[in-house]
Amino acid sequence: MTLHADYDPDNIFAKILRGEMPSVKVYEDETVLAFMDVFPQSEGHTLIIPKDVQACNFLDLPTEKVGAYMERVQKVARAVEKALSPDGVVVTQFNGAPAGQTVFHLHFHVIPRWSDKALSGHASGQMADIADLEAIATKIRAELA
Ligand code: 5GP
Repeated sequence: MTLHADYDPDNIFAKILRGEMPSVKVYEDETVLAFMDVFPQSEGHTLIIPKDVQACNFLDLPTEKVGAYMERVQKVARAVEKALSPDGVVVTQFNGAPAGQTVFHLHFHVIPRWSDKALSGHASGQMADIADLEAIATKIRAELA
């Protein structure tokens, strides 16, 4: 998908937002939904997506929406750090397939890192056990309450 492709309202994250597909939610308000990545690169890998906007990527997000969105990205990243006490936290996102993007509704990744643990591959491997994701999400939600 090129950087400037049309937004597909049937992408998987749009379906999650509409409640047509399940997700393990950690946070939701009028601006964002945050949920666990089902192919986590590390324990606690969380995605934050904006609501009410058809943005394939960060470049598409109307500038006036950037502030509120990034506040939520930081809020979730802080909660992940408090909940899981990693040694570091990657906050990242990809724009366009050549940059590594695989789902074309804007999202930021929050990926905890531990010094002695390698990252799993991006958007690959085995789907996580949903009960395991729920247990991690419970810890993160507690820091967002
Ligand atoms: P991207 O490659 O677009 O930056 O990231 C997409 C992310 O979405 C990947 O990390 C991938 O593991 C995750 N993902 C793909 N499909 C699903 C899904 O159905 N549910 C959830 N929760 N995550 C997904």
